[in-house]
Amino acid sequence: PSGPLILLIHPMKEAGLRLLREAGDVRMATGNDPGTIGREVRGAQAVIIRTGGKIDAAVLDAAGKGLKVVGRHGVGYDQIDVAAATSRGVQVVYTPGANTQSVAEHVFAMFIGLSKHFPRMTSELAKGNYDARTSLVGREVAGRTLGIIGFGRIGRRVAETARLGFGMSVLYNDIVPAPHDVEVRTGARRASFREVLEASEYVTMHVPLDPSTRGMIARDALALMRPDAILVNTSRGPVVDEAAVAEALDAGRLWGYGADVFAVEPPPQGHPLIGRPDVLLTPHSAAQTEEGLTNMAAMVARDVAAVLRG
Ligand code: NAD
Repeated sequence: PSGPLILLIHPMKEAGLRLLREAGDVRMATGNDPGTIGREVRGAQAVIIRTGGKIDAAVLDAAGKGLKVVGRHGVGYDQIDVAAATSRGVQVVYTPGANTQSVAEHVFAMFIGLSKHFPRMTSELAKGNYDARTSLVGREVAGRTLGIIGFGRIGRRVAETARLGFGMSVLYNDIVPAPHDVEVRTGARRASFREVLEASEYVTMHVPLDPSTRGMIARDALALMRPDAILVNTSRGPVVDEAAVAEALDAGRLWGYGADVFAVEPPPQGHPLIGRPDVLLTPHSAAQTEEGLTNMAAMVARDVAAVLRG
């Protein structure tokens, strides 16, 4: 292998590796802790990161002056210090759209799973309580009101599916109004944050993590929500205050919570939401499908290779 050093912090699908091998010398890091990244990034012209680990000013400096590009295999790039990269002349590329469908499907899996009490039904069945089939009554998603916070790629895909597949009424909140044709296609109406929370039986978070969204769903926001609401967070853990969610569930002020992301990942043992019958949790796996992984690998590799070629 020859050419510029391309450091992968995590593995990726062959669809991306193939493109990277044509562009340089591809090496796998032996870990994603700051010490390992800092040591192994030395001399790299490109570094590619998935979920787990950070690219901050210290990593950028450890890489040295040859670093040209940081690639994010995924969509949220909150773990990359973009300002620090830009000020050092390092480009940042990521994979918008590559996992939109996978995440949108995850949201519906959680809506339906919680509506039909999947966590509780599974544990009752395991205990031999077959009567759960009649003692626990579920509900249909169809025809209900959906609130989408963050109406970008994923939020819009969720809206389309909600409308076409489930005939839901869709409200959205976003700092930017969607173009008219998108509102027509998705049938979604823009509303205030407050109105979305007050009206919706399903609320789903699709904002990036930044200072405007950190802690966006905390005690005050939860207090606005309907007691029969199901809240799903596939965006970033710190967007939702987990302790406040546990409190709302305990008090019967929320029907259920679904999350693919956590304030701290992985969540510590004894986390207040793990193991609850009214909560459905997955380990940041919403984008981990054959299609999502292939799309993310191919897209990040193509864009990193393009920067290396100049
Ligand atoms: P996107 O950039 O297309 O959409 C984000 C939307 O949020 C934009 O329309 C933006 O205007 C809006 N927004 C930003 N700040 C806001 C605020 N304060 N209030 C209301 N709206 C606000 O991104 P996307 O592809 O839809 O992904 C959304 C987020 O989901 C990503 O940033 C990422 O953190 C997360 N994500 C998670 C997974 C996963 O594996 N669980 C996978 C993909 C993306």
